[in-house]
Amino acid sequence: MAEYDLETLRQLKRGELPFHLVHEMQSSHKDSDRFFKMLAIAQESVPWDDRILLPYAEHLYIVDKPDKSRVVKCDCGHEFGDYRRNWKLSALVYVRDTEEKINEIYPNMLGCDPEWMHLREYICPGCGTLLEVEAVPPGYPVVFDFQPDIDTFYEKWLKKPLNRE
Ligand SMILES: [Zn+2]
Repeated sequence: MAEYDLETLRQLKRGELPFHLVHEMQSSHKDSDRFFKMLAIAQESVPWDDRILLPYAEHLYIVDKPDKSRVVKCDCGHEFGDYRRNWKLSALVYVRDTEEKINEIYPNMLGCDPEWMHLREYICPGCGTLLEVEAVPPGYPVVFDFQPDIDTFYEKWLKKPLNRE
């Protein structure tokens, strides 16, 4: 099993590695401390000090606040609130629900039919980054992508329980 140094993993995160190496890294078993190496790289890449517990999505993390709450935070620093509540409910939303709005990004006739599908774009109020896009039938509830069991993940999978006193 190949072990990769921090600089190689930094380049992986920044998308700077050649395809063949990315493919090799993705296809092989991960070094046992890969999670913590990637966590350290994520931590050094953000301008704030809250401890990252889990990368959540591109640009989003679950962080540990000084008051022991756990919130979803953008790499710009904007906080979306408790991770057990869907962060999208606190995001800016742009709904592409007409042919005109869908044709802004898809050539005519290649996009979805707005009678059948809407595109919902969730945007960070802090930095304006497009964080997530949902393709859903009109009226479909906001999708809650993922609610991790953070304590179990650290205790049972990583064997490094979080200190919560
Ligand atoms: Zn942001």
